[in-house]
Amino acid sequence: MEKKKEIVMSGIRPTGFLHLGNYFGAIRNYIKMQDAYECYFMVADLHSLTTHPDTKELKQNVERVLAENIACGLDPEKAALYCQSHLPETSELYLYLNMLAYKGELEKTTTFKDKVRQHPENVNAGLLTYPVLMATDILIHRASYVPVGKDQEQHLEMARNFAQRFNHRYGNIFPEPAAFNFGENLVKVPSLDGSGKMSKSENGMSTLFLADEDDMIRKKVMKAKTDSGPTEPNSPKPEYIENIFGLMQLVSTPDVIAKFDEDYNNCNIRYGDFKKQLAEDMVKFISPIREKINNILPDKKYLKNVMEMGAEKGIKSTNATMKLVREAMGLKYY
Ligand code: ADP
Repeated sequence: MEKKKEIVMSGIRPTGFLHLGNYFGAIRNYIKMQDAYECYFMVADLHSLTTHPDTKELKQNVERVLAENIACGLDPEKAALYCQSHLPETSELYLYLNMLAYKGELEKTTTFKDKVRQHPENVNAGLLTYPVLMATDILIHRASYVPVGKDQEQHLEMARNFAQRFNHRYGNIFPEPAAFNFGENLVKVPSLDGSGKMSKSENGMSTLFLADEDDMIRKKVMKAKTDSGPTEPNSPKPEYIENIFGLMQLVSTPDVIAKFDEDYNNCNIRYGDFKKQLAEDMVKFISPIREKINNILPDKKYLKNVMEMGAEKGIKSTNATMKLVREAMGLKYY
């Protein structure tokens, strides 16, 4: 008999254009995992409501995230690629898990504190319980692995805690899910302004989007922060220079990186040339993806079909889990 594949789950919010951080933190692994694992990848439309209550652009953004995932190489015939709101039992498990999550621990979450700072006018309960919904998305498929970037590490730890609490109280239903990057450290793609991470919702000029035109990519890379260069051989690199080398690691060849590293250590690096090289390597990497996005996006019939196919696979999995959950909880009276 064929061995049952291990289960993988991850998601991306439809809050804007996907960027290099989403690609290297998440999507690259989705693609590497789609053959060997049973994969559930979702467009996290419910999550986006916590910070983006205006839904005027939601449909368009959902279609974009789907098209962008597929353009990167995700195959909707292999993985289940679906919309979070198309799996109705998500809301049910979210309710049960909320009873096992404590206000104190939710308030201490780093992303919650960040979002309170960014949107003091909209500190809603959904924002507070974001980690519970995220745990629900994973646990409802009884997934073991979650390919995500470094920014999600704390949420994963909370998902494990909620799984443990449920199992302890009601019986062993959920595996404890782990963040996954093929045994490597989780990725953080830095922003081009020298601090923080690339993100959909912050400073567009410091983030390289998969849909960016070639000239826009060049413009953004050339604006990345540098200085007048090192004066002592082999000096440590400031964070903003380290970040540019980090971006080069993602798209340039090892000999190119080695050359600029040597130039840096010998104090004769020319930052103009360094950034030009990075810009061209980024263009080479991003432009074929952009072209595929532009081909897929207008095909609304295909995207609808992808969503339907994904929902069907997703619902089959959530039905099976929720049957076990209700039984374990004693919510079955006849
Ligand atoms: P964003 O922060 O851009 O809104 P999401 O919260 O939707 O992105 O995250 C989608 C996935 O992309 C998650 O797995 C997250 O860890 C990953 N991700 C987002 N930004 C980065 C980044 N700069 N570096 C690495 N991974 C990232």
